[in-house]
Amino acid sequence: MDNGLSRTVAEGRAFKQVIDGRMVDGASGERIDVACPSDGRVFASIPASNATDVDRAVRAARRAFDEGPWGRMPAVERGRRITRLGRLVADRAEELAALESRDTGKPLRQGRADVAAAMRYYEFYGGAADKIHGDTIPFLEGYTALTLREPHGVVAGIVPWNYPLQILARVVGAALAMGNTLVAKPAEDASLTAIRIAELALEAGIPEGVVNVVTGYGREAGAALSAHPMVDYVTFTGSPVTGTAIQQAAALNNRGVTMELGGKSPQILFADADIEAALPVLVNAIIQNGGQTCSAGSRILIEKPIYEKVVAALAERFSALTAGPHDADLDLGALINPAQKARVESYVRAAEEADTPILSRGRIHEDAPGTGFYYAPVLFGNVDPESALATEEVFGPVLSLFPFEDEAGAIRLANGTEYGLVAGVWTRDGARQHRVAKRVRAGQVYVNGYGAGGGIELPFGGFRKSGHGREKGFEALYDMSATKTIVFNHG
Ligand code: NAD
Repeated sequence: MDNGLSRTVAEGRAFKQVIDGRMVDGASGERIDVACPSDGRVFASIPASNATDVDRAVRAARRAFDEGPWGRMPAVERGRRITRLGRLVADRAEELAALESRDTGKPLRQGRADVAAAMRYYEFYGGAADKIHGDTIPFLEGYTALTLREPHGVVAGIVPWNYPLQILARVVGAALAMGNTLVAKPAEDASLTAIRIAELALEAGIPEGVVNVVTGYGREAGAALSAHPMVDYVTFTGSPVTGTAIQQAAALNNRGVTMELGGKSPQILFADADIEAALPVLVNAIIQNGGQTCSAGSRILIEKPIYEKVVAALAERFSALTAGPHDADLDLGALINPAQKARVESYVRAAEEADTPILSRGRIHEDAPGTGFYYAPVLFGNVDPESALATEEVFGPVLSLFPFEDEAGAIRLANGTEYGLVAGVWTRDGARQHRVAKRVRAGQVYVNGYGAGGGIELPFGGFRKSGHGREKGFEALYDMSATKTIVFNHG
């Protein structure tokens, strides 16, 4: 039940960014309007920060790393404070969910799920901080060799607008657990909860300068951050084009990067699958967050004998889907902004012009304000595997269906895009489960299930255009640190 908070939270507030433990305006004094996607109305503003602000934040993070208490704090104590941040997030769950929903247009239910996931990241990485360690290595006679896992130093975290709370939490959690300090740059379309998290980090006893949040446009604040010579490591989630720009900037300083760049994730449905179990999962994997999910299950490959049956069942479910205001908590909310809506429209238009059949459409609720950025879900059948719709990330509620003949054909189709983030395999045949899971190119494969973005404990990341490096789980702790080898010659 919505208590009305999600309609009014942060009304009229001029947010500040968090640098060196202080709430500050941007150096230029310029601001970015914050509009709610549900009605397009401006309700708050954030600083439009520039290179001066970024420099201030990076220097604060540098000082906090080199001179502050954070660098000398025992891992167990760092972990306690990260865990405390998780508790503060849980205490403020309703406020954070309301803020996230209003800022992004996502249904309140999804906002609440995002808060719960963020809390779990802080809990997981708080607990992990003192459980990761190096090795001793058998070496030459008269020597002892050992490895330490050391923090990089200052980490830059550039975060997108689709799951701001969750993605910030996985960056903050893993970076801090390993003893790094952080400058985060949330997306200009969704920065409000990141600012709140930086405030809560201070309340949790995480020292000043350890978590800095700079708001602003990507081309200005984001570009300055990824190119800053005092940044030691960059982690980014977002589009491949921006990922390339960030890697080029980081390369000028020869810095390491983790890139999570989205996908075109397939779910493969074999004729022996439990179709009734699969159907709600197939729909949710593309509808969750309005399809604006890097791991959205945007392609379904269906074995020919069951193609018509599955098409009919999905068409029925799609026609019942409704988009509406975040506080109405329907199947999906509005898209993030008019540009994203136009992008989704252009893919759908191109597919229609190429005579790709629309099998079914959802609807926009009659009470949804006409000024909101709504898009009714679309189901396409018999999609041309070479088309833009089949190979590019639409990032909207658009699902494409493809028939296939046999296992080899299914794998060819599944691997037929440049992406490789997540895949789903639906079959009761155990040997086939293993074979297909191994042959599909994806960072995560679910068998008889699908987790669009799920699993705090599960390493997550892509192959090829989906990026490199791994987030989530223990694996993220390796990306957020470097191995130091020490060799003692004791004769
Ligand atoms: P984006 O990748 O450009 O933005 C993500 C983040 O990068 C934001 O914080 C942005 O401010 C920052 N940024 C932008 N340009 C930058 C630069 N030159 N240097 C440093 N930082 C920069 O995403 P977008 O423009 O908001 O969306 C475009 C498309 O990207 C979407 O339509 C969607 O397909 C895709 N996308 C994917 C994901 C994902 O999780 N995979 C997330 C968001 C967007």
